[in-house]
Amino acid sequence: MKTLTVANYIQNDPAIKPRWAAGTLYSPYLTQTKLFNLILDYKVKINKKIRTTAGKIHYDKCEIHLHEIYFGADAAKWREDFLHTFFHEVSHAIAYHCKGEPGHGPVWQHIFANFGYVPTRCHVNGAAFIEFKDQEVNDIADGLGNMF
Ligand SMILES: [Zn+2]
Repeated sequence: MKTLTVANYIQNDPAIKPRWAAGTLYSPYLTQTKLFNLILDYKVKINKKIRTTAGKIHYDKCEIHLHEIYFGADAAKWREDFLHTFFHEVSHAIAYHCKGEPGHGPVWQHIFANFGYVPTRCHVNGAAFIEFKDQEVNDIADGLGNMF
């Protein structure tokens, strides 16, 4: 299966494209073509090992890993969370590569806000934005017959 990139999601997902365009139009961060392309080339992967967070970012590998729940039978149910997590992680990529800021600091918060999301207190504290309740994940995993 072909690994999709951030660019693929921007092009193919009708909910992502306008939000990306609005968020980056006046962004002071993505001023260099090289950096822009670096973010667009980030790979977006399903990570079956993720249990307690919605997504992870690997700056060294230029990869965003997302919880498999977003791609399973209940993907529609998790649609809004998927979009939230996608932009959460993309904002990390921009903050890190453009301003050298890992974590949920002021640069990340600004970028995430540019995409139309409100950074909440847990972002500031450095925790992942969603923590799936274990039981909820198990219920869905059982339904899919997947192993967690
Ligand atoms: Zn984060």
